[in-house]
Amino acid sequence: MKKHNYSAGPCILPQEVFEKSAEAILNFNNSNLSILEISHRSKDFVSVMDEARSLVLELLGLEGKGYQALFLQGGASMEFLMVPYNLMKVDGKAAYLDTGTWANNAIKEAKLFGETQIVASSKEANYNFIPKDYSIPSDASYFHCTSNNTIFGTQMKSFPETTVPVVCDMSSDIFSRTLDFSKFDLIYAGAQKNMGPAGTTLVVVKEEILGKSGRTIPSILDYEKHIKAESMYNTPAVFPVYASLLTLQWLKNNGGIAAIEKVNEAKANLLYNEIDRNPLFVGTANKEDRSFMNATFLLENETHQETFDKMWKEAGISGLNGHRSVGGYRASMYNALPLQSVQVLVDVMKELENKI
Ligand code: PMP
Repeated sequence: MKKHNYSAGPCILPQEVFEKSAEAILNFNNSNLSILEISHRSKDFVSVMDEARSLVLELLGLEGKGYQALFLQGGASMEFLMVPYNLMKVDGKAAYLDTGTWANNAIKEAKLFGETQIVASSKEANYNFIPKDYSIPSDASYFHCTSNNTIFGTQMKSFPETTVPVVCDMSSDIFSRTLDFSKFDLIYAGAQKNMGPAGTTLVVVKEEILGKSGRTIPSILDYEKHIKAESMYNTPAVFPVYASLLTLQWLKNNGGIAAIEKVNEAKANLLYNEIDRNPLFVGTANKEDRSFMNATFLLENETHQETFDKMWKEAGISGLNGHRSVGGYRASMYNALPLQSVQVLVDVMKELENKI
């Protein structure tokens, strides 16, 4: 029986994506060839790439608004350096919001390129909240933030108004909630949460912000080169892109972001209500900043750990252990995790309460 998969990423994808992508490995589009053995320049694959790129813009409501979608490689971590390479002006500076490990990794890379101003940080509180009162210098080349902090279980519920381009790492909550995506000038996300398997990275960029840094950019790191080559500057990650397309089609067929947002809200409310009601558990993130994707929580009394761990494992739950920097538990409830899986976890939490 399929496990209730709470893995933080790579993570659960829709069952039909597993099935259709397995089929394509054996016989892609009835061509009697595997998707793994055809040219990325073949008609069949070019149409996969084209559809995936346009579906991204359609789902985000960005069609015809001057944006391009790219499927790159190197993970979100590669974007930590591609962003300053392409956007930070020579002798200019960039502004960063420090909300966790990944934001911090992005800051480290930006520092290699120039002045990197941290406008606010929640580091002192082990990143258990999202800083809100800060100002963004108007002479910054861009402002960078992380919409969802996968490790610490916090999520930005609103975004600052600013005149400088806004760059957002949406690796762990892209396609999970409705936002006015046109407020962002560059969005990036490793595929391996809500979009597909690991191996490709989505970049959505407003073309008008490019070509202004004054830097000489190596071709493979240059967004403009990737746009010109229609995301085929070099051999793309064909299989991850195909599986991402299947996931995007699944999302569209199920009502798009607005519909999945309702399911995600229901899942998050179900679990957080139990964390708050059940005296054995305590949430780690500031309530108003709680992530709807990754819920982080602890047992009030660690002596129950062995019993609880045994119970959830026996209930068919997998991947619930917290990240070492927070401890306890982390329930990652990405788009493809069914509400019923959350109910199973909540039932186990109630059962523990009855037992003790
Ligand atoms: N940003 C966030 C918010 C993440 O959750 C992760 C990975 N979990 C990364 C960046 C790094 O992504 P990658 O492994 O694709 O480089």
